[in-house]
Amino acid sequence: MLPTIVILGRPNVGKSSLFNRLVGRKIAIVDNTPGVTRDRKEAEGRVAGRDVRLLDTAGLEEAAPETIQGRMRASSEAALREADLALFVVDARSGLTPADRAFATWLRRQSVPVILVANKTEGRFGGQAAFEAYELGLGDPVAVSAEHGDGMGELHDAIREHLPAEDEDDKEDPDRPLRLAIIGRPNAGKSTLLNALLGQERMITGPEPGLTRDSVAVEWRDETGALVRLVDTAGLRKKARIEQALEKMSAAASIAALKECEVAILVLDALLGMEEQELRLARLAEREGRAVVIALNKWDAVEDRPGTRRRLDDVLTASLAQLRGIPVVPLSAQTGRGVEKLMPAVREAYGHWNRRIPTGELNRWFEAMLTRHPPPLSEGRRIKLRYATMPKARPPTVVVFGTRAEQLPEDYRRYLVNGFREAFAMPGVPIRLQLRGTT
Ligand code: GDP
Ligand code: GDP
Repeated sequence: MLPTIVILGRPNVGKSSLFNRLVGRKIAIVDNTPGVTRDRKEAEGRVAGRDVRLLDTAGLEEAAPETIQGRMRASSEAALREADLALFVVDARSGLTPADRAFATWLRRQSVPVILVANKTEGRFGGQAAFEAYELGLGDPVAVSAEHGDGMGELHDAIREHLPAEDEDDKEDPDRPLRLAIIGRPNAGKSTLLNALLGQERMITGPEPGLTRDSVAVEWRDETGALVRLVDTAGLRKKARIEQALEKMSAAASIAALKECEVAILVLDALLGMEEQELRLARLAEREGRAVVIALNKWDAVEDRPGTRRRLDDVLTASLAQLRGIPVVPLSAQTGRGVEKLMPAVREAYGHWNRRIPTGELNRWFEAMLTRHPPPLSEGRRIKLRYATMPKARPPTVVVFGTRAEQLPEDYRRYLVNGFREAFAMPGVPIRLQLRGTT
């Protein structure tokens, strides 16, 4: 029996969109079983690296009984009985409604674990729109855009934490592998690099068919003895031989890999530099909340090394401010030179990405920031910021509380994010800033 995830929430918050987004192309069965009231959508798919069954309760709300709460409750109760995990979706754009609150109160009393999902947070709405959702008392909301695909990596992480482990390696033990993705355009040198890495390390499992699906697991120990696992990608799944598979790896496969990894190695062809395609992948990694390390490959073939490096730094500064300080490791996958520096950089980025700053230390920094530059007025009124917390890492997430905090202008947010990154030395790591207005 597969673990079952049910998607709950009032009408129009985006349950169906999220269902489709989660199931993606990997949809196996869409079963329109005529339910008591209306069709129910059900699918089997792979979510967060697990085979799961997904139930969508959209549509059920429109049926019988009197109040909207009553209707949702009846249909949700039935679905919840089958569920191992519930995704409770709210619409961060429209804000919380009494129905959301009533539903949350009821949901808190059920025994099924709940992940709170704040949907429609794309674009300017960013994480900010998600704060209100804290009030529901269902823990930290995961901000996503089902329509645009933002935040799905973080949702996958949250889901992964709640599902029973599929195999031994995934259990929460110190030997849990670091999940690594190698992304980049075709011919950047991804497969050559992987072979170079594997040549230098002790390979634990080779490319071989998985147990449940024809998935591929490549796992090895790095020089510190820590386990590293190359995340399974759609591109890899189809092929038995990893060299071939990676060679063919498309942008789509890179995108899929980003959702399941913790750290992404973005392989650049140094002769081409960082172009639009690479920027797109890096930004996507940032949106997914992944730490990124750049492997500046084919360094052996570069004649003007200082010039190449300078041009890359210029592009990174100008076009990738959200991953400021991203580590760059020049190397040659082909000759092996510099490859030994890559995994230490990955480990370091992983460390930053995982790091939580104690509240006291965080607030000493926060106060210094406020003293240096007090927050500006908003519509003639003072924004008073009170304190900061860091409820989670992976990626580092800072929540700032204060009066009208949510009105903080973009440049002040950037000031805080960049200040945080510098103070706590987290180069190249996405940093989430959330603002919560208090009264
Ligand atoms: P359901 O009734 O909860 O299943 O909601 P739907 O998935 O049918 O979505 C309701 C409406 O919200 C549709 O018009 C969607 O296009 C829209 N929607 C869903 N997700 C998003 C999102 O992430 N951002 C925005 N802006 N709109 C969304
Ligand atoms: P992928 O499509 O990203 O997996 O790229 P491949 O690993 O297949 O490499 C593409 C081409 O670049 C091949 O012809 C490789 O031999 C070449 N290549 C890979 N790494 C290097 C390198 O470090 N230096 C040079 N000069 N060529 C390389």
